[in-house]
Formats: sequence, structure tokens, C-alpha cells
Amino acid sequence: MNGPAPRAGMLEIAPYKPGEAQLPGVNRVVKLSSNEGAFGTPPAAAAAHARLAGELHRYPDGTAAALRRAIGARFGLDPERIVCGAGSDDLIYLLASAYGGPGTELIMTEHGFSIYEIAGRIAGSSVRKARERALTTDVDAILALVSPATRIVFLANPNNPTGSMIGREELWRLRRRLAPEVVLVIDAAYAEYVARADYEAGAALVDAGANTVMTRTFSKIFGLGGMRLGWAYAPEAIVDVLNRVRAPFNVNAAVQEAGIAALAEPGWVEKSRAHNERARARLAAALTAAGIGVWPSEGNFLLADFATPERARAADGFLRGRGIIVRAVGGYGLPQALRITIGRDEECALVAEALAAFMAEPARG
Ligand SMILES: *Cc1c(COP(=O)(O)O)cnc(C)c1O
Repeated sequence: MNGPAPRAGMLEIAPYKPGEAQLPGVNRVVKLSSNEGAFGTPPAAAAAHARLAGELHRYPDGTAAALRRAIGARFGLDPERIVCGAGSDDLIYLLASAYGGPGTELIMTEHGFSIYEIAGRIAGSSVRKARERALTTDVDAILALVSPATRIVFLANPNNPTGSMIGREELWRLRRRLAPEVVLVIDAAYAEYVARADYEAGAALVDAGANTVMTRTFSKIFGLGGMRLGWAYAPEAIVDVLNRVRAPFNVNAAVQEAGIAALAEPGWVEKSRAHNERARARLAAALTAAGIGVWPSEGNFLLADFATPERARAADGFLRGRGIIVRAVGGYGLPQALRITIGRDEECALVAEALAAFMAEPARG
């Protein structure tokens, strides 16, 4: 008997593999696998969420007006040019579908965030990957892939899982050299963590034309990954398209309140950023001292390089044996590496200690 068949290409999509959360037989795992902020839920966001518990029968404000006003005020942006989504993934899917489709091409980088490929394939676009240079976006390699069929370019800056970024000049060069009809999506999920002076999250490029979109998320520094909240800042015409194609109530009522509260949590971003910078440097130094390669990172994670897939797998197994979950990134073309989220100091110390012990074992070191 023949069942219903999905559209062509749907069964070639590899399901997204999230960071794992559990280990069989381990009660308390150290979860450093999804780049969730180190400090948990912002208390004000938890309280706002709880306040809504008696109002669950009410539909949310489909335009998320109060939340967009709060985001606009916080980041100095026009709320009319902001669209919220159920995570920034939601907006990435919508952009890929609205601007791509069969016969068109989507460009991303070699080790770019895997959701772009899934979103592009759902849209029916062909997905092309631009070679990177030392695990960093190569603007010329992206430009070399552009064809008349190119409709959209997705760039995570900084990128996950590599942690690398390109600076303002390169970002502008990419935008200027792309045809005006090509949408450039700058995914700045880790913007709040970046300390480099030459960083541009993307708003200036959005403002300068009609063809660039910046996406942001509440899942990382704002600690709301479980709630699903992201937003896009885009030119008017793209905002209009997103508002036509998104689900009318794509951001639920509780997350709208939690998001507003997270933005208002005093000192949260400053504390998280300061901790991340310190803890990331300390962990990088410890791993380097243990003989592990560490790629420079601007995000709240490190890419640890074990030189071979076998050693990376063995290290992953060793960590699991100690109740520590990090992220294998073979699916990103990096089977020799593991991505480690910067957690609290105790968590970073545990992973550093475990990996030092792993490297010290004679058979492996
Ligand atoms: C985590 C992450 C996101 C955020 O996804 P959400 O759907 O907002 O949770 C987006 N892009 C990149 C590169 C990320 O690492």
C-alpha cells in the first residue's frame, strides 16, 4: 500500500541533531552542549512567565507589539522593522522559503549553522557551501559561488560551531559585491558576547539598503532557549513579507512577557559577558596546556580540536563517562573537534580537569 508522499526532496533532509541533554544512568549531567547562557533563566523572566499562568486561555498579541517596543528601545531600532519568531530558527525558515524555492540557490559557508541547509532544502532551493579559510568565512569564496540563481546568503557572524567571525569591513565588502536582489541574512545569535572592536552585528547594513536582514535570539545570552524567542531586523518590504508568511501567533503570550522581562533584568548581559570572557580564556588556556587545539572564539563556546576523529570520539566518550555532555560536530564537517559551551566556573573546571586526565592517559596522549 502506498502512503502519502511528501514533496520532492523532503526525505533527503537530514533531521537537525540538537545537543544532547541526558546520559543513561547519570542523574546530574553537566550540559555544555547547546550554548545556553551560563547563568540559567533570568529571574525576572521566570517571574513574568509565572504571572501568565492564569491567562493561558487568551490568545497572544499576534504582532508582539510590546515586545518589539522593548527590543527596539534596548537596541536602538525601529520596532516597526522588527519581526519576532519562535526562536530565530523560525525566521530563518521563513526567509529561506519566502525568498528561495525550486530553481534558486542558497549560499552558506562550509561549516555554517546547519539550520540554513535544512531551511533551504525545505524551500526547495539548492544549497551551496562556500569554502572557509582557517575555519573562518571567506567572502571571496562566497562571491565566487554567486550565480544568476542565487537568492539568499546566510552568514552566522560569529559562526556556530567554529566561533570565528569576520569584521565590519569584510561584511560590508560582501554586501557591496552581492547583487541588490540577493538577500543577505546576518545571523548575529552571539552578538552580545563579541568583544572585538571591528564587530558589526548587522543593523547598519540593514539600514543602508533594502536587502539585508539581521537575526537575533533570546536563546543564548538572555537564557530563554526553552521558550523559543528570536527576532529579525529588516527593511520594510522584507518585514511585510515576513508578516505575511509567519504563523499569526508564532510567539506565545508567556514568551512575550518573559522576553520583555529578560531585557529588563538588571546587569544580566554585562554579568554574562564578563563571565564568558574570563571563563572562555581560562578554559582555552587549560585545554591548550593539556595539548588540545583550541580555535579562537567570539561566542560562548570553544571549538576544541583533537586532530583526528578517533581522538575526538574518544574524548567525547571519556567526558560522557564523567557525566559531561559536549557537542560532537561531525555533522558540520568537523569530526576531529568537539564544541564546548562556556558554563559556570565549576562546570568549566570539571571539563578542563576531565580533558586534562584524558590527554594524560598514555594510550591517548
Ligand atoms: C543558537 C543559534 C541560533 C538561535 O536559534 P534559536 O532558534 O533562536 O534558538 C541561531 N543561529 C545560530 C548560529 C545559533 O548558534
